[in-house]
Amino acid sequence: MCKLCYESGGFKSDLIITANQTCILMANLFPIGDLSYLVITKRHIVSISEATPEELKDLFNIVSMVVGRLKYRFRSEGINVFLNEGDCAGQTIKHVHFHVVARSSGDGIENFKRNSGLAVISPEQLEKHKRITP
Ligand SMILES: [Zn+2]
Repeated sequence: MCKLCYESGGFKSDLIITANQTCILMANLFPIGDLSYLVITKRHIVSISEATPEELKDLFNIVSMVVGRLKYRFRSEGINVFLNEGDCAGQTIKHVHFHVVARSSGDGIENFKRNSGLAVISPEQLEKHKRITP
């Protein structure tokens, strides 16, 4: 089972923050830092190159919204947006997903490192994530 296919039970609905026609914004179950989101296609595709024009538009509309809210609502000093494509690039789940990660000076996050301890998101972290939407 794919961990990012919601309709086949890949993850719990409480991680979903919002969605549009073809894509979903969710909190990262394995967060990188304080605020860590995933933007995924509803349809199971492995590569961004398989996305339709509508999926690309929907993916980036959500990414752009999250970046804006992190900057102006959460006062994030910096933000990483990235997609891992392929094993050697660190793609561990074979379903297209963009990471959107809030950054701050001295947060200790090394770029392109995963949540190595695999600490699961806390209920408090999840509630904070959900404040990205009205
Ligand atoms: Zn999938």
